[in-house]
Amino acid sequence: MFNLILFGPPGAGKGTQSEKLIEQYNLIHLSTGDILRSEVAAQTELGLQAKKLMDRGDLVPDEIVIEMIRSKVEAGLDANGFIFDGFPRTVAQAEALDILLSNLGISISCFLALAVDEEELINRLLNRGKDSGRADDADENIIQNRIAEYVNKTAPLIGYYKGQGKFKDVVGTGSVDDIFNRLCESIDVLIN
Ligand code: AMP
Repeated sequence: MFNLILFGPPGAGKGTQSEKLIEQYNLIHLSTGDILRSEVAAQTELGLQAKKLMDRGDLVPDEIVIEMIRSKVEAGLDANGFIFDGFPRTVAQAEALDILLSNLGISISCFLALAVDEEELINRLLNRGKDSGRADDADENIIQNRIAEYVNKTAPLIGYYKGQGKFKDVVGTGSVDDIFNRLCESIDVLIN
């Protein structure tokens, strides 16, 4: 299996690029943000609990997202591989993912990090908020909080995956197609 973590701060373009990458490489897209938003829409107990945190731009507890990912991975083992988008977001999540995958006899193949500067992120998110209907994209204070959560809790994953020799950074600015081509170049080196 080819299992990719598509990494980057909020607004880096992980969702957009994941949609293109799953087509190109026939992978399953696992976005914890999307899964959580569907729980919110279905008004499940978990969704109601997560919504308060998501609306503030805080991370939801590790145990919740780890269990969500566990069931999706176990259900998708016949696929070519997974793209993890928005997961892991803490070192504890990364450690749990490594254990989960190794128990299934698979592993992370690479960690591609989209690099975009903060001013551009804020502009992209505010623009997306105009039609995404996402409360967490509509308010600059909430966006700043999401970026702070990223800096404090998520950015340390760069060191974690560098330590495993899996980190590769990719310029995350330019056209959607330019960014996609850069990602494909990095992936093709690994799979050919
Ligand atoms: P995203 O769609 O990836 O921007 O995620 C939207 C929100 O869902 C985040 O701001 C968090 O509140 C929550 N979330 C998504 N993925 C995770 C994760 N792996 N760990 C904790 N919270 C998450």
